Amino acid sequence: MVAGSYDVIDPATERFVTAVDQAGPEQTDEAVDAAHRAFDRWRQVAPADRGRLLRRFAEAVDGAAEELAQLEVSNAGHTIGNARWEAGNVRDVLHYYSAAPERAFGRQIPVAGGVDITFQEPLGVVGVIVPWNFPMPILGWGVAPALAAGNTVVVKPAELTPLTAVRIGELALDAGIPPGVLTVLPGKGSVVGERLVTHSLVRKICFTGSTAVGTRLLATAAPQVKRVTLELGGKSANIVFADADLERAAASAPGGVFDNAGQDCCARSRILVQRSVYDRFLELLEPAVAAVRVADPRDEASDMGPLISAAHRDRVASYVEGDRPDVAFRGRAPETAGFWYPPTVVLPRGAADRVWREEVFGPVVAVLPFDDEADAIVMANDSELGLSGSIWTRDVGRALRVARAVEAGNLSVNSHSSVRYSTPFGGYKQSGLGRELGPDALDSFSEIKNVFISTED
Ligand code: NAD
Repeated sequence: MVAGSYDVIDPATERFVTAVDQAGPEQTDEAVDAAHRAFDRWRQVAPADRGRLLRRFAEAVDGAAEELAQLEVSNAGHTIGNARWEAGNVRDVLHYYSAAPERAFGRQIPVAGGVDITFQEPLGVVGVIVPWNFPMPILGWGVAPALAAGNTVVVKPAELTPLTAVRIGELALDAGIPPGVLTVLPGKGSVVGERLVTHSLVRKICFTGSTAVGTRLLATAAPQVKRVTLELGGKSANIVFADADLERAAASAPGGVFDNAGQDCCARSRILVQRSVYDRFLELLEPAVAAVRVADPRDEASDMGPLISAAHRDRVASYVEGDRPDVAFRGRAPETAGFWYPPTVVLPRGAADRVWREEVFGPVVAVLPFDDEADAIVMANDSELGLSGSIWTRDVGRALRVARAVEAGNLSVNSHSSVRYSTPFGGYKQSGLGRELGPDALDSFSEIKNVFISTED
């Protein structure tokens, strides 16, 4: 029995797109039971065959990439360029982890009196809970390594953005992934999400979302000692030293924070600029911000689309209108229907300002000056969050010193790149727990089993 339906609204037009059935607690239990039943068969699928099925799944996603991208534009307002990249990312992550089943090595450890070997065993049913900001990639980062490790998966997409997840679930079946191995269950966090966390047959939760929900989820999972990976919020620093290529640093800063309309956990939403070049940097930043094309996300030339919802736009605006930091300059946004908000650069009064401390999750960036390297590190680390960040300098020694000192899981030097599927991704402090992606992702979807075999007569 469904628990109502959710009206999907196109954020760029405010038009109704479609209604999606929401699962209730009984449906969630049925999906978990089906996943549990499918587990024994899936874990027994020969490693090469499991890899082959994941490659077929990747090909099915590739074949539907344009359709998925268009769905995401309608559902989430992502620019068509970003949405195509996101569908391609799901394909690539599936390809990457399709090699894993045949490489899930154990170890042979020297011991007296016998042979000691370890096995990587799957956990069972894994719940993947996805936020609305990157519905496709974040689904893929959980699903691909979880399936590769031999688990079965129930995905709960965000209420706001179920469409691509539902389609990817269908593509998995088309590709020959057996029924029950991957189930996509749209529904409320407080119903489906909560039930996945409390259900005793769900052995692990892979959660991406806000720090507020993530910390509650950790407490709810504790009585069952349920395995949990958390990818939470960010308030990442973009640190620009006086010796940097200032033109490049300023030209790339808008992309580092306004991509996906700033609805990016890795958004570099605090820019720290060395005081001696602070004015010059702002002079260079202004035209770069003005050049961001905020336009219909279906337009191939659009750099930035709308925010996800009216409520979220109000929340983003409250950081600028409510707190009244100095607005240094803003870009332009359409004044038509749609949840538009212009790229905005603010100068907070100090590091205590809300806009400097809290994740805005919109196209608002705050800029403050710093004095020297030590000051920059203290300011960058003055946050409970620690997901990502960038360092702009021509001094290699400084780049490495600062990269080692900043408390964040993903740093880039003279660039804003942070997520590659072949490298580990995750946060320090309240930005998360555990790591996703990269060569070791299967570790967090497996148990290590140690077996000793006596060779005594
Ligand atoms: P959210 O925490 O509100 O929701 C995330 C998911 O959790 C949704 O599917 C929601 O339905 C579900 N949920 C809500 N309440 C729940 C509950 N009680 N039990 C179980 N599940 C529940 O986050 P959001 O607003 O969808 O996403 C934005 C946040 O996600 C931002 O803070 C952003 O920084 C973070 N994020 C982090 C990363 C990362 O990798 N670190 C990536 C993307 C987004």
